[in-house]
Amino acid sequence: MKQNPDIVVIGAGAAGMMAAIEAGKRGRSVLVLDHAKTPGEKIRISGGGRCNFTNIHATAANYYSANPHFAKSALARYKPADFIALVDRHGIAWHEKTLGQLFCDGRATEIIDMLLKEMRAVDARLMTGVEIVEVSKSETGFALRTSEGALTTQSLIIATGGKSIPKMGATGFAYKIAEQFGLPLIETRPALVPFTLEPNLLAELSELSGVSVEAEITCRKTRFREALLFTHRGLSGPAVLQISAVWREGDEITIRLLPDMDWMALLKAAKAENGKQAIATLLAQYLPKRLAQYLANKSGLSGNLADLPDKALNKLSENLSAWRIKPAGTEGYRTAEVTLGGIDTAALDSRTMQAKAVPGLYFIGECVDVTGWLGGYNFQWAWASGVAAGQAA
Ligand SMILES: Cc1cc2nc3c(=O)[nH]c(=O)nc-3n(C[C@H](O)[C@H](O)[C@H](O)COP(=O)(O)OP(=O)(O)OC[C@H]3O[C@@H](n4cnc5c(N)ncnc54)[C@H](O)[C@@H]3O)c2cc1C
Repeated sequence: MKQNPDIVVIGAGAAGMMAAIEAGKRGRSVLVLDHAKTPGEKIRISGGGRCNFTNIHATAANYYSANPHFAKSALARYKPADFIALVDRHGIAWHEKTLGQLFCDGRATEIIDMLLKEMRAVDARLMTGVEIVEVSKSETGFALRTSEGALTTQSLIIATGGKSIPKMGATGFAYKIAEQFGLPLIETRPALVPFTLEPNLLAELSELSGVSVEAEITCRKTRFREALLFTHRGLSGPAVLQISAVWREGDEITIRLLPDMDWMALLKAAKAENGKQAIATLLAQYLPKRLAQYLANKSGLSGNLADLPDKALNKLSENLSAWRIKPAGTEGYRTAEVTLGGIDTAALDSRTMQAKAVPGLYFIGECVDVTGWLGGYNFQWAWASGVAAGQAA
């Protein structure tokens, strides 16, 4: 390799590119290495191809971590407004979809192009298709052996992401480096991921495949209110992906369908006012038809409302407002949007992302034990932690 840079960033994803830009602005020479052929592959596929690049409501309260305070400093110093200003400077059109989630009007690749342009503007170099064979500590910093040769650097920023979607090049590289340098890890697990179901329940719910409905899902005292989607593999949709981050094996989830609805009051009023109506017909006025029919059957109810005892309506109301399901598991890293856990924040400086015990070594982005909710929060963490390291390395 031609020249030893001041900083090597391993991982040309959201966090790594952001760190390179920020460090480059300070006049540091930066080299970004990635084993993939192209940078920012997760950005490209994110947000259904439109990249939900931030969330205007992002604060540390929207993140899971063994230390809920850790993310505060970086998030406070690089805010959603800062990234929006960057996007605006590049003339990228965007819109708020829902709940503060900002998406590109066009393609997610506009965000990648923007980051690459910013890197070029500060002379940050990028090499893709490079395997990192070995990392070791040298007297003045770090020595790297790669498939393209050896190099040394003063500062090393690890930005290789989590384990989610191994098909796209995700590796446990950051965790291995952390272990090599004696940094503690918080156990990792897939999150923002669909649930799978036991075969019997899956077969029972298969008639609902494709049905989407507004729901509030609760697990371990955490609740999220968004869409629930029944699929041929199990349960998905934003509400399910959100709750998957707190769910643990063996837990039940409780589903409240159309959370604003007082189901018991509705059923009683309908029985009094329109007793000749069939129960499935009533439910289908509010819920997708297949779901209405399924719930009527599940509660063992058929016929007219007038013929149904209040006890039966109570059971139905419970199925509508507190439907309990025990997922068999999740789809795992194969489809998870993020990895919970990672480098223990206790080992890192929250202002700079530097390993407290290893001067010059930084960890940023998803590999750190900071995981955001669904909805642009994970990219905001990648940008903010990238900037924090880029300003310090
Ligand atoms: C399908 C999907 C959709 C998503 N949508 C959104 C969204 O809309 N909004 C949002 O906020 N978040 C979204 N996320 C989450 C978001 O993509 C990640 O949180 C974010 O990309 C993490 O950034 P990062 O830079 O830490 O890691 P990554 O973006 O994963 O980048 C890591 C980089 O390191 C490289 N690398 C890995 N191992 C090695 C190695 N051994 N040697 C060299 N290079 C290596 C990889 O090739 C990659 O380029 C989505 C995730 C998925 C999977």
